Amino acid sequence: MPTPDTDSATAIDTPTDWWRARRDALLDLARTGTPRYVYSGATLREQARKLNATGVLDRLLYAVKANAHPGILDVFYREGLGFECVSPAEVERVLGLFPGLARDRVLFTPNFVPREEYEWAFGQGVRVTVDNLYPLEAWADTFRGQDIFVRLDPGQGRGHHDHVRTAGKHSKFGIDLGDLGRLADAVAASGARVTGLHAHVGSGVDDPEAWADTAETLVAATASFPDVRILDIGGGLPVPSASGEASFDLAHAAELLRGVRQRHPEFELWAEPGRYLVAESGVLLCRVTQTKEKAGVRYIGLDSGMNSLVRPAMYGARHPIVNLSRLDAPPAGPHEVVGMICESGDAFGHDVELPESHEGDVIAVGTVGAYGASMASRYNLREPARETLL
Ligand SMILES: *Cc1c(COP(=O)(O)O)cnc(C)c1O
Repeated sequence: MPTPDTDSATAIDTPTDWWRARRDALLDLARTGTPRYVYSGATLREQARKLNATGVLDRLLYAVKANAHPGILDVFYREGLGFECVSPAEVERVLGLFPGLARDRVLFTPNFVPREEYEWAFGQGVRVTVDNLYPLEAWADTFRGQDIFVRLDPGQGRGHHDHVRTAGKHSKFGIDLGDLGRLADAVAASGARVTGLHAHVGSGVDDPEAWADTAETLVAATASFPDVRILDIGGGLPVPSASGEASFDLAHAAELLRGVRQRHPEFELWAEPGRYLVAESGVLLCRVTQTKEKAGVRYIGLDSGMNSLVRPAMYGARHPIVNLSRLDAPPAGPHEVVGMICESGDAFGHDVELPESHEGDVIAVGTVGAYGASMASRYNLREPARETLL
């Protein structure tokens, strides 16, 4: 069970807090309509530069599914990042926004898609990752003469929740290391060339050793694929959440990756983070609609809900929550912060320490730049929060 003190955003001291300094501007924006996602362009750039500054990654690809807002994509384009896309629509958005983008800076990494999507992607000239044996064995013609990445399952999923661990026996992603021989045969029979090995083991992986481990696993697998030049170690870099988790030791992870590079200078190292790049840039502004006390439990109701931000309901994700209208007011005990969707899981936070709050107050939910707007829906036929990039 979470403890109340770590629920409050005041317990965290991270870049998540950019929005404290911009409080007045955010309250002005809230007057023009809520619910509203607001993103800080400066924080986006800061995160991209922090990763580039490690000097251990030859290429950074932004995982578009975390947040496909055109302004956010533009910030990363200007920072020189490539893009990792999981659907043709994501590829089209990126190519449509940036006609000058070199096609080899786009990596299409689909899962269980029909044959036509691979053919379409080769037609677009983007890089393609194959993550099952089936396409190579059943549709060998599609891959003849093509350079491809293959996605391997290093065998151990990691991440902040079962639903985001994308490797291991019970994951639908990737090719088992035990099938490398069969994979090499399928590649040879199809006439494709494997130029990159890929792995993405989960989201919110806070063990700094995980990245170098993944890289070494891929290095070992290159024995079966002599054309490999690129090792893509995936995404999953964590950000601090309201659960008080220790902040990720990026310097340590980078140091271990530097060791991998020194041992194997013949390979380029790529990574494709989503959450790390965008999560902390986003805050969701909502208004208090009603308050309530029932059976000793206090509720604060907001003019939004799981249709705008589903992570707390879906993953039990913890987000910092503050009353932006009363930032300096004393805490008045734990509250359930709930939305207006007709679903009992419709909450943004449980046991959240908040001041006495009133109808019309602006509540800010932090660290929502990733998998917030991009997972929003029209459930209950309610429009999800609009978006503003500062
Ligand atoms: C979702 C995804 C990512 C990004 O994951 P984050 O946890 O947001 O960093 C990277 N690669 C692939 C293949 C993905 O599906």
